[in-house]
Amino acid sequence: MQIIKSPKKLQILSSVLKKSGKTIGLVPTMGALHEGHLSLVRAARKQNDIVITSIFVNPLQFGPNEDFSRYPRMWLKDKQSLSDHRVDYLFAPTAKDLFDSSFQSTLSVGKETLQNKLCGLSRPGHFDGVTTIVAKLFHLAQADRAYFGQKDFQQSRIIEQMVSDMDFPLKIKVLPVVREKTGLAMSSRNQYLNDEQRERALIINRTLKEMKRRLLNSKESLFAVKSWGQRQIKAKVEKLDYLEIVDFETLTALENRNKKMVIVVAAFVGQTRLIDNVIMKSF
Ligand code: AMP
Repeated sequence: MQIIKSPKKLQILSSVLKKSGKTIGLVPTMGALHEGHLSLVRAARKQNDIVITSIFVNPLQFGPNEDFSRYPRMWLKDKQSLSDHRVDYLFAPTAKDLFDSSFQSTLSVGKETLQNKLCGLSRPGHFDGVTTIVAKLFHLAQADRAYFGQKDFQQSRIIEQMVSDMDFPLKIKVLPVVREKTGLAMSSRNQYLNDEQRERALIINRTLKEMKRRLLNSKESLFAVKSWGQRQIKAKVEKLDYLEIVDFETLTALENRNKKMVIVVAAFVGQTRLIDNVIMKSF
């Protein structure tokens, strides 16, 4: 596995690979890799000649009071697991490499639609930071396919929208949430949790699963199921940011059942903000 730090070098290399007829799969990450990330790498490995993984803790997507400076960084371990998974190129630029002092563009998607809800409300500017870096990575890696996790459901919808709106010539692949045996969605931020918090965090997925069961098996209203879920989670966490039943495409909160629904949640356990979701119809 070759490590590349220079954006221009990656772009030149990708052009050469494309010219020689190779397909490229890109897996963008912020590192502190776990099985969730590695499931994306494995899919990319299966479906492409060349796999590029990026590790970059993107300052643009963190708010001023968020965890940018203490976000887990595990360079040696990450490098080893990517090499074990036969990644061809690890792109690991610095912020200076990607955003020089003259940088001043932002790519913004769905301000009035996909962004003005859920995580977009509690993390102003977050998704602009995500789409800006992802657009840059797409231009640099020139991938045929890029891999994202359903774990960040709103993010994956926004990126799909960006690709469609801006005619990026690649396919977005969204893969299922990888969970610990307990049901807790894997996240680099789970490292912040102590044992007691980890135990309390289990209420999140348990509640989502039970809500899904009730929606499928009973005639209860969405409002009733949602209110029940909110009470369950609120009893165990420091703060429930949101728990909603939304439309798969638009992320708009639903009042009545429809074909493709997603139950989405964000909650603070201790200081740690955790997100999770379940889809009511599989991909
Ligand atoms: P991050 O490093 O948190 O920015 O995540 C990089 C990619 O991995 C994103 O597309 C995430 O949605 C995905 N990802 C993170 N956690 C999981 C998980 N538990 N299961 C599946 N994909 C995940």
